Amino acid sequence: LDPVTFSNESKAVIDFIADYYENVEKYPVQSTVEPGYLSAMLPESAPYCPEPLQDILEDVSNCIIPGLTHWQSPNFFAYFHANASTAGFFGEMLCSGFNVVGFNWISSPAATELESIVLDWMGKMLKLPSSFLFSGTGGGVLHGSTCEAAVCVLAAARDKALKELGGWENITKLVVYASDQTHFTFQKAAKLVGIPPSNFRLIETSFSTGFSLSPENLRFVIEDDIRSGLVPLFLCATIGTTPSGAVDPIAELGKVAMEFKLWLHIDAAYAGSGCICPELRHYLDGVELANSISMNPHKWFLTNMDCCCLWIKEPKLLVDSLSTDPEILRNNASKSKAVVDYKDWQIALSRRFRALKLWVVIRRHGLANLMYHIRSDIAMAKRFEALVGEDERFEIVVPRKFALVCFRLKPKVEEEDLNCKLVEAINSSGRAFMSHAVLSGIYVIRCAIGTTLTQQHHVDALWKLIQDKAQSLLM
Ligand code: PLP
Repeated sequence: LDPVTFSNESKAVIDFIADYYENVEKYPVQSTVEPGYLSAMLPESAPYCPEPLQDILEDVSNCIIPGLTHWQSPNFFAYFHANASTAGFFGEMLCSGFNVVGFNWISSPAATELESIVLDWMGKMLKLPSSFLFSGTGGGVLHGSTCEAAVCVLAAARDKALKELGGWENITKLVVYASDQTHFTFQKAAKLVGIPPSNFRLIETSFSTGFSLSPENLRFVIEDDIRSGLVPLFLCATIGTTPSGAVDPIAELGKVAMEFKLWLHIDAAYAGSGCICPELRHYLDGVELANSISMNPHKWFLTNMDCCCLWIKEPKLLVDSLSTDPEILRNNASKSKAVVDYKDWQIALSRRFRALKLWVVIRRHGLANLMYHIRSDIAMAKRFEALVGEDERFEIVVPRKFALVCFRLKPKVEEEDLNCKLVEAINSSGRAFMSHAVLSGIYVIRCAIGTTLTQQHHVDALWKLIQDKAQSLLM
């Protein structure tokens, strides 16, 4: 890490990345390589001697870039996007540059304190009740992913319940509730904390409720479980589901959760970012009834991977579940209980200084530009939705709430896989990349608008591409 070499070589890497962004539209959006392509291009074993950076960058160009699906391409409309920004990149550089490991306060006080401050900033932007903020009675932490956050809150909920029930032998009684639209990561998390897979209830949703979880159906399933001697533990409600962007009715679900003493977690991984806009904030109404809430700034908040905010009303429950007290880490600050030791709020010991990145993103954009980013994506999605609506061969399958449009070619009995073929035709053209979902047995095409570089003309070109490919398929 000689500072002169560091400075010179970093400039070369930054120029390389700038060039990548300059040309990102020229690559096929979805990689076209075949499985195993890379081992045919790279040596079988690691080099013994150091290699020049220039050679490595050449190999990145020739071997790595062809195997990338270009998530930062403005023509990427699949899954949910992974936002990036210059500010997010700077934040990552600073994080990497300092490379501190803030597992407890003393190991890097700024890392811990900035994280607590930024979580309160974000919480205030979302108008979360003070019961979730450090300036109130709760607190927040940055994780790498929603899955990690889910494991941690499920562990806290599990341990609280097992304490009340009298011991670990009761774990087989605990039940977790979610809808059939809830992200699969919660099933994985429940399994990881020892909830028997047969005790994970996926409550069916339908077109009639716009794929949101019905409080009546939830109550019905809970009552049935109680009659069978089981113990309701945890409910995950989602704001902006992955398949269709549906929103679960938080206030009503919250009442059911309170009645049956369920831990209510809100997964706002995608749409949580949108809730900084006053016109979308109502989707969070009822959040005061939740025990915890998480969202991913790395999806729609101009924050480079990885970054997941988790707020919790009773951080003590997280700490009770996850804390460790090895001699090697003992120190007076921790003993004083006047500081946060984030190792006790997550799975791993080591942790990145992610707060620096989120802090730089918020400061460089300001709330005004962050809201502009969300609103312009929603405006493009509205326009795309209108274009689909004007073409009688197509239909919108579920009403749009955010910047995700679910649509399809109207089905004809003899062409069941028409929409699947359409997605394949679009993706294999290399000019755009889209993904799909299946809602109540119906294959829908998802157009997720939100990549940082996407502009109106990209969306218009996408629609033209879809129409052309549809025309060829229908001939
Ligand atoms: N929840 C929702 C609604 C999502 O859309 C996603 C990913 O797209 C996740 C959770 C999983 O997030 P992570 O990859 O951070 O675990």
